Amino acid sequence: MSNMIVDGFAFCRLGEQREGVTPVADLPRVAAEAAQPAGEIRWSFHGGRHSRGYLQLTMVVDGEVALVCQRCLLPFSYGLDTHSLLVLASDEADADATEEALDDERIDVIVGSAALDLLQLVEDEVLLALPLSPRHPKCPDGGSVPAPEKPDSPFAVLQKLKN
Ligand SMILES: [Zn+2]
Repeated sequence: MSNMIVDGFAFCRLGEQREGVTPVADLPRVAAEAAQPAGEIRWSFHGGRHSRGYLQLTMVVDGEVALVCQRCLLPFSYGLDTHSLLVLASDEADADATEEALDDERIDVIVGSAALDLLQLVEDEVLLALPLSPRHPKCPDGGSVPAPEKPDSPFAVLQKLKN
């Protein structure tokens, strides 16, 4: 595996890209949450600039993690597919100021580094994407217990308010 530590600022400034596939077994914090350290995580990073000039990293992560269903207690393959925008700040104070200036929940402001560990970012992202209480969409033993209703998305709520 190539070196996953990059100069985060230069990576964005130069518009660099990197992508790869990492076995779950190589992500120790994810493997610890998984039923089995099986499956792979595909990831990609694109460096660039936010329309307001901030250095920005686009991260796309997808793959499968084996989790134990909390309803039937059987392992199943949980698919994740995330797309994140990370804006790099120079330090904690800059991160706070940037967060406030951007005021955009879709963007995560992180403290950048000249030794930014991309694999660490991937691992953080996978951990965040894992459900607290994983369940099969439909359990294999017949699945007579209905899945809990999904809460309305903010968009659906807005739509209802309009009508
Ligand atoms: Zn189940």
